[in-house]
Amino acid sequence: MLASGGRAASIGSGTPGGGGESATAAQSTGGGGQSPGGAPGGSGSQAAGGSGSQAAGGSGSQAAGGMGSQAAGGMGSEAGGGGPAGSWPNGALAAVSLTYDDGLDTHLATVIPALDAHGFKATFFLSNFEGVDHQWALPNLKDPLTPRHMAWQAVLRNGHELADHTVNHPCNSASKAPNYHLTDYDMPRLSAELDDSVLRLGRLGVVPPITFAYPCSSDKIGIGPNGQDFSPLIAMRFFAARTSDSSIAAPANLDLLHVPLQDAGSKTGAQLRAMVDQAIARKGWLVVLFHGVGAETTCPGLDFNLKGCMINYLTTDTASHQALVDYLAEKQAQVWVAPFGTVAKTLLKK
Ligand SMILES: [Zn+2]
Repeated sequence: MLASGGRAASIGSGTPGGGGESATAAQSTGGGGQSPGGAPGGSGSQAAGGSGSQAAGGSGSQAAGGMGSQAAGGMGSEAGGGGPAGSWPNGALAAVSLTYDDGLDTHLATVIPALDAHGFKATFFLSNFEGVDHQWALPNLKDPLTPRHMAWQAVLRNGHELADHTVNHPCNSASKAPNYHLTDYDMPRLSAELDDSVLRLGRLGVVPPITFAYPCSSDKIGIGPNGQDFSPLIAMRFFAARTSDSSIAAPANLDLLHVPLQDAGSKTGAQLRAMVDQAIARKGWLVVLFHGVGAETTCPGLDFNLKGCMINYLTTDTASHQALVDYLAEKQAQVWVAPFGTVAKTLLKK
């Protein structure tokens, strides 16, 4: 079912899903390539890029940096929804971060051009499918980068944020491959995988500080048979993290390591635009989660010669995505559109 042969079996077996991500997992689509299966996610950070291997530096733990602890606290004492009117940069009433999970080819083919047309920068949480080493968005640490990896490097150079979403996207989903459920993990295993993910992002040019998105509501599910909270491992390495809680973030009371989101999923353009209106009304921070975008696309223009977009699921149609992007352009006087990490850094400074 996947467009490119050898990878199909292992890719198809996983699923992003356990929690929020899987809800509509079956809407896969099109061009020959996709599987609703489990995908990984995450990614993140900003840097200039290119040469990969030196960027990430030696030890994953460096990434941890001191920022985690700062991030955790509340952002201020104001009650209720965001700050005073116009308290976001440029006098905006609300902040909007567009986030795209799992390093899907539709992001490269459809999303980036749509964003670039308006000069918007977004966040891409990259990960791999379990068992697919080096063939997906995240390179391993030894093999030459592939054209897909280079395409992601170009995204970073273009000013978008690449951020972390683990390597294998552990998830308590029935369709996840054996040994990649969170209940198969313990703290040392997850810790090692997080360090690995940071190094892999480094090969794409990402440098700390980095942001993170929990795969599959895993901040709630925890880890191991008894569900241990692994958020301390996240706080050690990342300065902000997106959870699967559904709401518009109120900056006054925000824990930056548990930033809520709004899932774009199969919503219409009108529904997506309504989210923006709500964020403006609340003077909040809207973090929109996308997986696949554009069921109809065949991913033209990707230079690694796909017959179709490999792996595409939880798909938002292109017109709905475009309607949101166009609306954000229309509302630029009121809405600050910026990557997840950029907004988080602004809140840290407050
Ligand atoms: Zn994911």
